Amino acid sequence: MRAAFLTEIREIEVRDTPEPTLRRPEDVMVRIEAVGVCGSDIHYYAEGRIGSQIVRFPEIIGHECSGTVAAVGSSVRELSIGQRVAIDPLLACGECDQCLADRQNTCRRQSFLGCPGQVAGALAEYIVMPVGCCYPVPESMSAAQAAMVEPFAVALHSVRLAPLKPGSKIAILGAGPIGLSVLLACRATLGDSNSHFYVTDLINERVQAARQCGADWAGNPQQEDVQAAIGGREPLGLDVVFECAGKQETLDQGAALLKPGGTLLIVGIPELDRISFDPHLLRRHELEVKNVRRQNDCVRPAIEMISSGAVNVDRLVTHRFPLRETKKAFDLVASYGDGVIKAMIEAAAR
Ligand SMILES: [Zn+2]
Ligand SMILES: [Zn+2]
Repeated sequence: MRAAFLTEIREIEVRDTPEPTLRRPEDVMVRIEAVGVCGSDIHYYAEGRIGSQIVRFPEIIGHECSGTVAAVGSSVRELSIGQRVAIDPLLACGECDQCLADRQNTCRRQSFLGCPGQVAGALAEYIVMPVGCCYPVPESMSAAQAAMVEPFAVALHSVRLAPLKPGSKIAILGAGPIGLSVLLACRATLGDSNSHFYVTDLINERVQAARQCGADWAGNPQQEDVQAAIGGREPLGLDVVFECAGKQETLDQGAALLKPGGTLLIVGIPELDRISFDPHLLRRHELEVKNVRRQNDCVRPAIEMISSGAVNVDRLVTHRFPLRETKKAFDLVASYGDGVIKAMIEAAAR
């Protein structure tokens, strides 16, 4: 089969490689139809690592994917050949204290599709995953929508961790695919209420996309003082801030925008190995800081929300490439060029 290998920093080669095989009775072979390029993939591409997770070249990455069942192991009853599926990229052990406490996202012996050194990724024609990671999707769902299930599930998990109430005043700092998905998930969860949504991003196309996705106000911190603009509209401060940029500046802005007792969720992956906070601000305002690790139990609700039309993720998919142009897709996302939000590698574009 063909697969896209990271061969060195900022290099990708599409090469022939043996197809993966069904090794366990619960394994399923999936023919990949769509793979979204994630911010984490770009860290591996451009920096060769995320924290202590280091790429040993050559490596196949990619984890936001959907496809069609091509073969099933002997114990698989739930799926049949030809069934279309969205993939949960997390392989949890099922036995540790975290798994037994229904916290598979912090499983102590987990591995992850497309995570360097763990499981070869989805930027290939086929992958093999256990049946528990393969979720059937309705025929009406496009391959790209099914590949958006994973990032949307991460956003939905963040929203479920937030103490949202009707009327909550909310900021989302960073309007990439995850930030915009958080906005869509929040609005779908809160329904029509008096909630207010403030969104910031450094890229004007993303500011515009945030308005289209329902932000009440959106702005670019390079062009205006967003803290003053939001503070002017919400003098008492905000209830919840989702930090979706992974930057020190947005962590500081988030803490400053909150009202006393407010909650900051760190959803973005910082490019730094250390982040800092003003302890006196956190203490005096008794702010809560929550970290978000991937998602937990949000795949089924994500499929339901996307397929029912409760959220529209199509507008987040701005670019499509065939597998052979994976490097082009990565360069586009890494440079934030051409208004890209989510770039999709699609088999149909082959
Ligand atoms: Zn991702
Ligand atoms: Zn576990």
